[in-house]
Amino acid sequence: MPKLESLVKKLITASLDLNNTGLDAILTPQGPILIGDARFTVPFSEARYRSLINRLGVMVLELSTSGLIIYSNDVTRQLTGIATTELLGHNCLDIIKPSPLCASIDRLQQEFLKNSELIDYQTGIVTAANSVKVIAWNSFNIFDNDQRLNRIVYFGVDITERQLAEQELAIAAIAFETQEAMVISDAHNVILRVNKAYTVLTGYSSHEVIGKKTRLLKVDSHSSDFYTDKHKTIKNQGFWSGELYSQRKNGDQYQEYRTVKAVNNNEGVCTHYVSTHKDITEHKAAEIEIKRLAFYDSLTNLPNRRMLNDRLTSAIDSNFHSHLKGTLLFIDLDDFKTLNDTLGHAYGDLLLQQVAQRLKACVRQSDTVARLGGDEFIVLLEDLNENSFEAKRLSEIIGHKILKSLNCEYQLNNHVYHCTPSIGATLFDGQELPEELIKQADIAMYEAKKSGRNTLCFFDPQMQANISARAAMEKDLRQALLENQFVLYYQPQVDDQDRIVSAEVLIRWQHPLHDMVSPLDFIPLAEETKLILPIGLWVLEIACAQLKKWENNPCFQHLQLAVNVSARQFHEDDFVEQVCIIMSKYAIKPHLLKLELTESLVLDNIDETIVKMHALKKMGVLFSMDDFGTGYSSLSYLTQLPLDQLKIDQCFVHNMSVKSSDAVIVQTIIGMAHNLGMDVIAEGVETEEQRDFLKLHGCPAIQGYLFSKPLPIEQFESLLYSNQSNSHDLKRVC
Ligand code: C2E
Ligand code: MG
Ligand code: MG
Repeated sequence: MPKLESLVKKLITASLDLNNTGLDAILTPQGPILIGDARFTVPFSEARYRSLINRLGVMVLELSTSGLIIYSNDVTRQLTGIATTELLGHNCLDIIKPSPLCASIDRLQQEFLKNSELIDYQTGIVTAANSVKVIAWNSFNIFDNDQRLNRIVYFGVDITERQLAEQELAIAAIAFETQEAMVISDAHNVILRVNKAYTVLTGYSSHEVIGKKTRLLKVDSHSSDFYTDKHKTIKNQGFWSGELYSQRKNGDQYQEYRTVKAVNNNEGVCTHYVSTHKDITEHKAAEIEIKRLAFYDSLTNLPNRRMLNDRLTSAIDSNFHSHLKGTLLFIDLDDFKTLNDTLGHAYGDLLLQQVAQRLKACVRQSDTVARLGGDEFIVLLEDLNENSFEAKRLSEIIGHKILKSLNCEYQLNNHVYHCTPSIGATLFDGQELPEELIKQADIAMYEAKKSGRNTLCFFDPQMQANISARAAMEKDLRQALLENQFVLYYQPQVDDQDRIVSAEVLIRWQHPLHDMVSPLDFIPLAEETKLILPIGLWVLEIACAQLKKWENNPCFQHLQLAVNVSARQFHEDDFVEQVCIIMSKYAIKPHLLKLELTESLVLDNIDETIVKMHALKKMGVLFSMDDFGTGYSSLSYLTQLPLDQLKIDQCFVHNMSVKSSDAVIVQTIIGMAHNLGMDVIAEGVETEEQRDFLKLHGCPAIQGYLFSKPLPIEQFESLLYSNQSNSHDLKRVC
């Protein structure tokens, strides 16, 4: 029986997980045992082992040489749920069924056929409770005296739990060796185990850290409160996760995402901690970069429009609570486009970067300098003063500081560049919306541009009102074109005998809701919106149509009409062609059409102007230089232009008698016209005195209220009739 004894020992060791020495102490007869005064000797007995095995839960089957069960113990009955009486005489393979948890029984059968003994051969059985258990089988053969196989004894130990535990351990071991650094420490934060990822992350090998405290990686970047909170959370909730800075073995700091989980025993006492460490340095850097791209302008590194909106929103909010006033400055560089067009975009970029630096240097750290795009910058001055006047005064100081700084020379590579800004400013006190403020500052900036650039202008609600009025007027102007609301007035131009020799055509707008609108009120807007193009063509067309109507009337057929041409209209590529088409359409005599150009129009693009004027001149059209004397008159350009007439601007005419310099100017213009072989006419003549002065100095032709205001066509024609009946020469013809 020693074989049985050793096998039983083995089985018990397996099932109880005892070591052999411990088991020997239980099983091996120790000689006499003293219990009190009594002495006991425990002899070996098979019955005793069987009972012991039953208690240990080991299945025992004794098989005949043909594989029939001739003995089975209680454990077998309990586990399989099959009565011993039913088991006896059956093949053992009937109860040892395959299970998904372990190998098939084929081999068992083969082993059995070979009569070889099993050592820890695992199969499954289906239990009485219909669950599957994994059984480790061991067997030995019993021979009769003639050494022939007599019986086979099978011992089956249920190792299901153990196997599951082993599997879990294996899984845990694999899981432990993941990509993520892991540390297992005891309740006192002494490191017990680290995985490979940890050694890669920290640079410490496992033997360098095992036995050390987990604070090995700690750096001074966090406050003591941070650690106190962390430990409190782990203690109270059993878990903590968060971002923190740590230090590698080589001293490099990195940012990690750490989780710490407390492992408690059955009594709820913490025995271990498991922590994971994830290096998020790159992730954080990427996050910062993404934020930078989303909220900062990549050229200047200044906050962009999005970030500005955030800052402005919170500034408005904080001003609302603090009652302090702030200011938004809208800065636009004057003529930035020219720099881009002449030196190229790389130089434009350099300038913008330097402007950004200068702006930052002009304000406090707490103020915001942002770039909206292009050459537009915003400066947000916060918490200036409770008093609006004082806040405005402070903003003016800063605004002028910015003006001064941006006016200084820029060194753009080898180029020294000079640039000026136009600044619009608006105060805010916490009631406004961000986009409303930006709009106000933008409007004020345009006012600064209008008032000559390189200046600071504060927003005034009237500016907004003007803009709204202009927007409404633009809409009305489009409508006016569609509905033919324009009319032409004719202002006579007379010679020294008061004979009407020509007329200037002046447009009026018969607005359906307002009085007659003066061209001074809508022509500038029409120019800006390009509506002047269709309007200008309409004027030209009506003038030509009128000339055509007069063509066969002896009283009017000699009349010239002067038509004002706007700069935008003249600079259109097909202007010459347009005039030509209209003149051909009405088949008018070209010398009856006089185009009035202004000096600024001519100087805008002198080469183009010369070409176009000559082309028209060739067709026979006449030219008059309107408002002469107000522009940058230069003799050299005057000689290059095929002009027929100079028209002395009315401001000189008005002031002739009060301002001697204007009288001199008038005389000079007259002299210049004579010398250049041109006609001269004075506009805005209102008094006899003015007329006499002009006549005396060689300018007999006049236009002005003295003779007549601009008139609607019917009145003009009546005036013409009466004018001509007064004229003896013409009377005969009419
Ligand atoms: P402009 O071409 O210099 O026209 C002369 C302006 O002086 C006219 O004003 C005329 O009514 C005014 N005027 C004439 N005599 C006197 C006078 O004795 N005293 C005073 N105080 N004013 C006098 P209006 O008609 O209001 O036109 C103003 C400007 O609008 C014109 O100045 C011209 O630049 C522009 N304009 C008028 N009609 C047209 C047009 O059809 N096309 C374009 N592009 N511009 C036009
Ligand atoms: Mg004119
Ligand atoms: Mg004029």
